[in-house]
Amino acid sequence: METQGLSDTQIDVIYRTSINDPEGFWGTAAAELEWQKPYDRVLDDTHPPFYRWFPGGELNICYNALDRHVAAGHGDRTALIYDSPVTDTIKSFTYTELTNAVAHFAGALAHFGVTRGDRIIIYMPMVPEAVIAMLACARIGAIHSVVFGGFAASELAKRIDDTKPKLVVSASCGIDGSKLIPYKNLLDVALELSATPPVHCIILQRPMLEARLVPGRDIEWQNALAASTAVPCTSTLATDPLYILYSSGTTGAPKGVVRDHGGYAVALQWSMSNIYNITPGEVFWAASDIGWAVGHSYTVYGPLLQGCTSILYEGKPVGTPDAGAFWRVISQHAVKVLFTAPTTFRVIRQQDPDATLFNRASLGDFRALFLAGERCDPSTLTWAQELLKVPVIDHWWQTETGWPVAAHCFGISQIRVKPGSVGPAVPGWRIEALDFNHNPVSAGTIGNLVIKLPLPPGSLTTLWNADQRFVDSYMTEFPGYYQTGDAGFIDDDGHTHVMARTDDVINVAAHRLSTGAMEEVVAEHPAVAECAVVGIADELRGQIPIGLIVLKANCAVDGILIEEEIIALVRSRIGAVASFKHVLIVDRLPKTRSGKILRKLLRSIAEGEKTAIPATIDDPAILDEIIHAMHAAGISPMRESGTI
Ligand code: AMP
Repeated sequence: METQGLSDTQIDVIYRTSINDPEGFWGTAAAELEWQKPYDRVLDDTHPPFYRWFPGGELNICYNALDRHVAAGHGDRTALIYDSPVTDTIKSFTYTELTNAVAHFAGALAHFGVTRGDRIIIYMPMVPEAVIAMLACARIGAIHSVVFGGFAASELAKRIDDTKPKLVVSASCGIDGSKLIPYKNLLDVALELSATPPVHCIILQRPMLEARLVPGRDIEWQNALAASTAVPCTSTLATDPLYILYSSGTTGAPKGVVRDHGGYAVALQWSMSNIYNITPGEVFWAASDIGWAVGHSYTVYGPLLQGCTSILYEGKPVGTPDAGAFWRVISQHAVKVLFTAPTTFRVIRQQDPDATLFNRASLGDFRALFLAGERCDPSTLTWAQELLKVPVIDHWWQTETGWPVAAHCFGISQIRVKPGSVGPAVPGWRIEALDFNHNPVSAGTIGNLVIKLPLPPGSLTTLWNADQRFVDSYMTEFPGYYQTGDAGFIDDDGHTHVMARTDDVINVAAHRLSTGAMEEVVAEHPAVAECAVVGIADELRGQIPIGLIVLKANCAVDGILIEEEIIALVRSRIGAVASFKHVLIVDRLPKTRSGKILRKLLRSIAEGEKTAIPATIDDPAILDEIIHAMHAAGISPMRESGTI
């Protein structure tokens, strides 16, 4: 689909300015925000790879997202619409109402001694209080770390131990479709597991499942408010950490991605008009949980910085009540731009293949659909395009980058969507595809997707308390570049195609998960001698994990029972989010002669790719047994003999 925007030459000029004169480009963008103190310079590049944007400057992102709009006379505009089919609630907050609620809760945090630089864990479902808590932290310079509700107690405990929060803000329960998730019980277990539990927890009691509060430790949300008054925004340095958001790495220890106030605010504000083409007062819907990067950037901060109305949706694409739910939300709230993951459209299409619940006319002047989070199969993209009759824009970014790296910038460029591609590099980002010798590969050839340093504002500044891990994980293998961990190619038109991860990270329904972390849990089962977890293609979720296990020699327990126990173990330790439902018992795992498990080979076999057998394999006969086990489990592998 093509649309009109600036000419290619004009876009080229914008892009080249962002690369050749980043200080000029981002300095201009920064002028859109209100600063309490001007910055000394736009970019401090004296300590690579630790770049700092807008050092010396002071601004508060909460002020820019809320108070600034009220001061400009837009207090009556709607800031947030909470649409919750699971509780049958729709509630709107104007900018004035949201500012007051945030200022009041910030006062409650301050009352409990929270000050600038303190960490606050937010473990909450998709309720307005979660957004209020995030913005309240920003208001007083505290650093929030939102933990996705689908994670199990031990994952929450890891994040508590890493951040050492002054306080945890949580709720009695979440609602997943028709199921109640007892958040508070999970929090209680996490606090027991934690080596550094906070002194206090503020708990939002939800009427559908009230939680038992621990006297002296837990304070009910309303009581916390009753004891406090509203507070104004603290002045924060542009370089102060705004939040820590944990993302899966290749081990069980999640990476605490750190984002700053200033660079992030500038990049998000720029992206709202230039990438998403949305103007103040319009309705923007990023259908993501606030526990993920999309929720942070495009449910909370981005739309509010731009003065838009943001939708907070506590429901599902199907089942709440049906596959017409998304169409209902777009139509009822006059959504102009929707951002979601391809998996949303795959499940809607599966439930309602003929789109009987869809009526284009009711969507009014809905303008565009943005997709990200996982590779979008061309058939889903085409289905959405034909149905919606608006540009469907697949774009690419990561928790670490904070905002899109490659996209058709709908606000400025002509949109020439090529199914399978995530579009050209966004201004500010220099994407290259390199081979393992650090040489650029030719157009159309798959390589390691890397980004030339310095990264633009808004991207991660480091990993929490782990500067060396930041350098080792992202900046070492390709000197002078940020390593994305994705493999792909850049085509003749300069458009990027993201094909797969180069590490052991998988994408389950656009949720990024570590197979290494799952392996650590599976290996804890007493019957398991060794194991491998790999991701395989799944029609709805994009990828799902499968576990291959070798039992201990003396293991006399029933295999089926062990499979069930392992599935339950992963669910309880990592969470339902992992969708870990397949365990295959095999006699041996394929390994190199030096004893390394050939996970990439297992993945290729499971995905039915034509697979050459590596010359380093110790015993090729093992593969027949594994193929047999996969067949028996309904996974259809394929193998082509040969040696590479
Ligand atoms: P997360 O950090 O959870 O946002 O996941 C980021 C990862 O999701 C990227 O490194 C990619 O592997 C994948 N991803 C995100 N967007 C896309 C896309 N549009 N196409 C292909 N993969 C994507």
